[in-house]
Amino acid sequence: MTETVVSYARTPLERVEPSRFWHTFSDMYSVSQGPKFVVARAEGPWLWDDNGDRYLDGTASLWYCNVGHGRTEIADAVHRQLTQLDAFTVYGDFANAPALELSERLAAHAPVADPRVILTCGGGESIETAAKLARRYWAALGRPGKTHFISRTGGYHGLHGVGTSIIGMDRFRTGFGTMVRENSVVPHDSVRALEEEILRVGPDRVAAFFAEPVIGSGGVYAVDAEYFAGVSEVCRRYGVLFVVDSVICAFARMGNWFGIERYGVRPDMIVFAKGVSSGYLPLGGVITSGAIAEPFWDRPGNPFHHGTTYAGHPTCCAAALANLDILEREDLFTVALEVESQLDAAMRTLADHPLVREVRSGTGVMAAVQLTEEALEQRGITTAEVFAEARARGVILRAIPHSLLVSPPLVITWEQIDHLVSTLRAALDAVAQRH
Ligand code: PLP
Repeated sequence: MTETVVSYARTPLERVEPSRFWHTFSDMYSVSQGPKFVVARAEGPWLWDDNGDRYLDGTASLWYCNVGHGRTEIADAVHRQLTQLDAFTVYGDFANAPALELSERLAAHAPVADPRVILTCGGGESIETAAKLARRYWAALGRPGKTHFISRTGGYHGLHGVGTSIIGMDRFRTGFGTMVRENSVVPHDSVRALEEEILRVGPDRVAAFFAEPVIGSGGVYAVDAEYFAGVSEVCRRYGVLFVVDSVICAFARMGNWFGIERYGVRPDMIVFAKGVSSGYLPLGGVITSGAIAEPFWDRPGNPFHHGTTYAGHPTCCAAALANLDILEREDLFTVALEVESQLDAAMRTLADHPLVREVRSGTGVMAAVQLTEEALEQRGITTAEVFAEARARGVILRAIPHSLLVSPPLVITWEQIDHLVSTLRAALDAVAQRH
């Protein structure tokens, strides 16, 4: 993988307004030299910038706007909640109706035995929660040595302390020192590699294994149908908790509630965020099995000493409930399966492009187009250039060092998919011509 910095800066023709806003993922050297792309308005799968130009949101923002933008029923639910109970903590025995209802609704659909729901404000926070719960669970069972986490190459689990440690992409780890020492990364598609790593570290030391149903930000990598049955069995055999990170894959992006149902396994924990509220307000959480909850729920004086101020925020939960209503009423689960195959068919037409090494699509409403090594290394082409060409033509993609990613809202139509893919081809052509 070429570890180049992806630059999103626009051509610096327009007047650059000085700004103190720090885009932390980005190369601020280049971002601060160009004008910002100010998103002013959004509706369905479309965005408008502050010049009034329209763009197709080919990435559902950052993989989250599953129901599309501008849903007034979510806005109305948020307004109703804010005027009734804006916010109140869930510390101690405090609760609120939206947090209780959301937990029941998620539990009812989760492929987890006897589920319990912990609410947070996002994906990375939920990963921290799951990781700490895994260690704390083993400690409660008298096995405090089980602290090691195993994750997968290309895996992305947010950028908090644990996430920074277990991430399967080196560039996100470099320069931060050691956040969590006890972790290792195994090839994303090999059951045997996981088993060997558990044996190398020692089953008495491994707390949990983290995996996305389909690796998203790392470049859209799906696995064979048998992979998850295999890792689930290996985890059970060696007493390792199996944590599924469904932050991208849940809430209909894979045609079901949590993505992992496609593989017929029942993990010990599921981490979710993004599509739970389609990002209208920040929300995430962890669904954990009753067995993991047992030491904390069934024994007196043994709290899980963890949590955050905004956990169970009633207004965020109200947004999520309205979002789930839309998913169910419009059956976006079934719609997503149709979009998945339409997107797959359209994306595969790019495989013959001279700059393209591989198209990965067909599992969930997400796809990647990877550029050839010749394009990236010998011709010096960057995915950022393709991104910029597509955006100049009115389509928003996501660029990672070797690939362009797409993950549109689930309400995208066939014509809009066609527009997305033909624009991506035109962007590739333009970049090929320039080099
Ligand atoms: N896990 C996965 C699979 C993700 O894709 C992301 C974000 O993209 C996260 C965790 C982190 O979520 P957040 O950015 O809300 O912290």
